[in-house]
Amino acid sequence: TMSYGPAPESADEVIQFLDSHNKKFKLFINGKWTKPSSNEYFETINPCTKEVLAKIPEANEADVNKAVTAAKKALPEWVNIGAHKRARYLYALARQIQKHSRLFAVLESLDNGKPIRETRDVDVPIVARHFYHHAGWAQLKDSELKDYKEVGVIGQIIPWNFPLMMLAWKIAPAIAMGNTVVLKPAEFTPLTALLFAEICQQIGLPNGVINIITGHGKTGATLVDHKEVNKIAFTGSTEVGKIIRRATAGTSKKLSLELGGKSPFIVFEDADLDSVVEGVVDAIWFNQGQVCCAGSRLLVQESIADKLYKKVKARMETLRMGNALDKSIDMGAVVAPIQLKTITDLVKQGIDEGSTLWQPSWSCPKDGYYYPPTLFTDVTPSSTIAQEEIFGPVLVAMSFRSHKEAVKLANNTRYGLACSIWTENINLALDIAPQIKAGTAWINCTNVFDAAAGFGGYRESGFGREGGIEGLYEYLKPKADELLSGEPIKVAKKSASK
Ligand code: NAD
Repeated sequence: TMSYGPAPESADEVIQFLDSHNKKFKLFINGKWTKPSSNEYFETINPCTKEVLAKIPEANEADVNKAVTAAKKALPEWVNIGAHKRARYLYALARQIQKHSRLFAVLESLDNGKPIRETRDVDVPIVARHFYHHAGWAQLKDSELKDYKEVGVIGQIIPWNFPLMMLAWKIAPAIAMGNTVVLKPAEFTPLTALLFAEICQQIGLPNGVINIITGHGKTGATLVDHKEVNKIAFTGSTEVGKIIRRATAGTSKKLSLELGGKSPFIVFEDADLDSVVEGVVDAIWFNQGQVCCAGSRLLVQESIADKLYKKVKARMETLRMGNALDKSIDMGAVVAPIQLKTITDLVKQGIDEGSTLWQPSWSCPKDGYYYPPTLFTDVTPSSTIAQEEIFGPVLVAMSFRSHKEAVKLANNTRYGLACSIWTENINLALDIAPQIKAGTAWINCTNVFDAAAGFGGYRESGFGREGGIEGLYEYLKPKADELLSGEPIKVAKKSASK
């Protein structure tokens, strides 16, 4: 038997879910659980305990073909049932996610290592909200977006840091606009996507509208290359984003990329420092810092820098780390050993390049892949840790004197995903925000998401938006495009004139 740490109410349900698949999953293709042609499997683990949770199929080219064929076959009917019926399916998905929210939250925390408080209070509610929001848009498609039509078969590839949330951000707008989907979850965290497949069955979603195929990068690359896929939506590293952009160049595939970040968290001398400290906790220790828009660069006005560092260190000392299912913890484990190694290597490089490291006096639990909250001071803006995305609980602090210097430091990055500005002077905040090249600007808060607000980046953080009406356009094409596509245009024959 397996142990899942301190048992929340839904642990039994999780065991039931995994047992009902004999802890060995199949692919979800055309509404059915389908054995992988590859007959290859990999293991997904609980990073807090290193226990194996289940075996997951590695989809090969034949499997990708099957899934894309199913999505293509489902397309005409999904388009023809019309906007109102599609909306009903989205509402049903939203309701089922809410109904099983505990199960989703526990499963996500087990697979990813993130605190149950986060999955329960942040991830899963955002997921449900995303489906409700897009159910509304599905309903409005024929009136508000009548000059547009669906793109077709969408290939979607997502990362492991917000597995279910990234699935919702991808699937909800795609199906709301009449597209069908083949989605590949990240190899470290496939379980909630597989539970979501069950939800699709429960609500009677037409077969083939959503297909879930699991596997590593190669499975993703096969999906990207597939000729019958009309658009790729990708969230993940900038490195893979570049590969995908090259792979789709010269094809007619539409593309959106949500990539990495190194977002500035800017604190002016008049800011309320106690709120700032809680903001810092949220910016860089939420989800162990494995957040694309994490406020990973702390930029502080020089006059208050030492005072703030002291307060941040005191707060770091009180952070509680432990098993993701323990409701009283602030930080869980890092997703996988390879991620832990990346963090450890970058921290070592920070020390080698002359920055000063600070970590709390307590030590991490030994049974999982834990990394302590970390603060670097004496950082030069050009150093590796100031420039590279660490994607872990590591905060890099630098100071500035003037407002102009703050903007310059904030923009000294190849990324442009988000920024967070802290001051009691709203005029200052509103002056600074537009000067920072970032898709999202938060004022006196951080990591706030809403389904109605477009999220996305500039520069090497990618392009395209998710959420809001901007996000819908990623899954639509103008009807007028048909006229330019070379398809014969039917025009009534005129009678010969004089
Ligand atoms: P990753 O790029 O390694 O993997 C992401 C997904 O791509 C996985 O499903 C993986 O299997 C797949 N993949 C890997 N190689 C591929 C290839 N050649 N072709 C197609 N698919 C391939 O990224 P990760 O380590 O899983 O995620 C962390 C990264 O994601 C971070 O850089 C983070 O900033 C970024 N991220 C960005 C956002 C955003 O909205 N901008 C959100 C979350 C995460």
